Amino acid sequence: MPDVFADLVGQDEAVVELRRAAAAAAAVLRAGAADRAPAPRTADPAESADADASGGVDPSTGMTHAWIFTGPPGSGRSVAARAFAAALQCVHGTGCGECPGCRTTMGGTHADVRLVVPEGLSIGVGEMRALVLRAASTPSGGRWQVVVIEDADRLTEAAGNALLKAIEEPPPRTVFLLCAPSTHPDDISVTIRSRCRVVPLRQPPADAVAEVLARRDGIAPDVAQWAAAAAQGHVGRARRLARDPEARKRREAVLAVPRRLTGVGAAFDAASALIEAAEAEAEASVTEADTTERAALETALGAGGTGRGASGAIRGAAGQLKELEKRQKSRATRAQRDALDRALVDLAGFYRDALTMALRAPVAPVHTDTAALAGAGAQKWDAEGSLRRLEAVLACRAAIEANVKPRIAVEAMMLALWKG
Ligand SMILES: [Zn+2]
Repeated sequence: MPDVFADLVGQDEAVVELRRAAAAAAAVLRAGAADRAPAPRTADPAESADADASGGVDPSTGMTHAWIFTGPPGSGRSVAARAFAAALQCVHGTGCGECPGCRTTMGGTHADVRLVVPEGLSIGVGEMRALVLRAASTPSGGRWQVVVIEDADRLTEAAGNALLKAIEEPPPRTVFLLCAPSTHPDDISVTIRSRCRVVPLRQPPADAVAEVLARRDGIAPDVAQWAAAAAQGHVGRARRLARDPEARKRREAVLAVPRRLTGVGAAFDAASALIEAAEAEAEASVTEADTTERAALETALGAGGTGRGASGAIRGAAGQLKELEKRQKSRATRAQRDALDRALVDLAGFYRDALTMALRAPVAPVHTDTAALAGAGAQKWDAEGSLRRLEAVLACRAAIEANVKPRIAVEAMMLALWKG
């Protein structure tokens, strides 16, 4: 039976470390239980053998209360954090994947596991304070309070400070699991970093991604192989490419860009098309959630209510609706940036293929379906020209990350791609 770590693709070292920590955590709980009820439970030989084995755990490999999972997007940071959370809540202490602790954690309904998934550009201090407060309570299931913070790099400074306080003086049964691209100070503050154990994840190899797509998602092996290569180690993206025809269409449109760059006008057209496609993709992804949320809030506020107190309620409601709109706008901006970034990563893959072909490097192309085009580009541009174009795409990503207006950054990139 696959346990909770089965979906952590190509991360053998991290899995070993997390299993060891989960065993150590279970030993801590058993020791606590033994303190409260001194009569040793020797009835279960397997369990006492376990306790013996973990009794001599080396503190450096044992349990700790604050962790950072780092790795490139799609490497499985949040998958790793959730799996570890499940292992901590597992009644066997292993992450068996079968017990109620594992299943409710993986299903997102465990009462002692809180998941922060930022929808907007940042995680605010209010949200973090509320979270820290709740995390300090005694775990209702008798094991651990686990707080998983996806995209911890999006903590505002104030939110980071609120979190730091909790990490510096941790409640005895609370575990913080942070996910961030790296431990660079831009991503995570040095002080938070210094209190956490880091679990570095690597970009999973395409073969491992293809294997999991075929095994878990039932995707045909040849499609899985193609999608895994095209997604450049991003597991979620690979699954989307394999399953969603719209995602494939968008990718094809992006990969058509290089041959459409025939002049200045065409470069600006291509920039507009790329921006608008990202906007459309983002809108499709958030509109439904926006509508549902607004309807739910309106119902909760009793929209259309009359009578005593209604006018006061409406004034309060206006504030809440405004707050919701602000949050939705922030989420829409994030979705647009993410969509644009996916397109840029695809484009970078194309020029990377051209570069490796110009250098005759013995590596497989990222985009097998445009390999011929990349080959033609390699002949025309040579290695230097291919590299300049690849750098133009990467510079565009960096500029957008540094808050340059996306349209301006993309226009500059398209001109650079055309001029070479
Ligand atoms: Zn379990």
